[in-house]
Amino acid sequence: MDRLIRGAQELGIPLNKGHLSLFQAYYEELVEWNRRFNLTAITDYQGVQVRHFLDSLSCLLALPQADLQAGVRVIDVGTGAGFPGVPLKILCPGMHLTLLEATRKKVAFLEHLTRRLELRGVQVIHARAEELGRRPIHREQYDWALARAVAEMPTLAEYLLPLVRVGGAILAQKGEGGPAEVHAAEEAIRILGGRVQRLVLVNLHGLAETRYLVVVDKVAATPEKYPRRPGIPVKRPLG
Ligand code: SAM
Repeated sequence: MDRLIRGAQELGIPLNKGHLSLFQAYYEELVEWNRRFNLTAITDYQGVQVRHFLDSLSCLLALPQADLQAGVRVIDVGTGAGFPGVPLKILCPGMHLTLLEATRKKVAFLEHLTRRLELRGVQVIHARAEELGRRPIHREQYDWALARAVAEMPTLAEYLLPLVRVGGAILAQKGEGGPAEVHAAEEAIRILGGRVQRLVLVNLHGLAETRYLVVVDKVAATPEKYPRRPGIPVKRPLG
């Protein structure tokens, strides 16, 4: 786990032995399950440490560990094999984490993984964001909604903002096109009750690519008609 340790140090995130043994077990389960199901294209030891674990932990640059303590409700939308939610949960065990994923086999992996890592306070849900955002027990219930590599910004805003309470925020992990995507999504964000708070530039150890964390505050309730039916936010993005 040298790459992860070094990269996390550079980001100012100290990792202890307990964290590292959980990341090692996570890596082993990911590779093992990936033999049977296609969970991720990145399975080499170095790649997983940097592109999955460290990249997920980089969310802490915009969402400090101090804000992810007991009782804070976080939802990771389109989490896939658990990114960025599970690495954040390893660092911040007190938070309540909901992992939302539309693909059944990934949900099966997440259920297995959370048992194997003995993570408490994690709920795994097999559903689409467009459905969950309309269910009263999930709508406007979360302090934070996160996503990495799920959709373009206007679509993503329609997935995430309905789930967050007024006063909460969303965090989207984006690549070098982050600023342009945010600019193009300004109207969609406004319609859904959001206001762009900031973009944080992220450089990861050993990677040349630039990444951004996009933080959008929820400043007003999302109008009733959003999110629209499954598939519509992708087909007809707002704005
Ligand atoms: N966030 C993970 C990561 O960064 O490794 C997975 C990224 S993967 C490219 C996108 C994931 O989002 C897929 O697993 C897909 O099933 C899920 N997804 C896409 N649209 C979704 C939706 N509307 N609701 C729930 N999950 C969705």
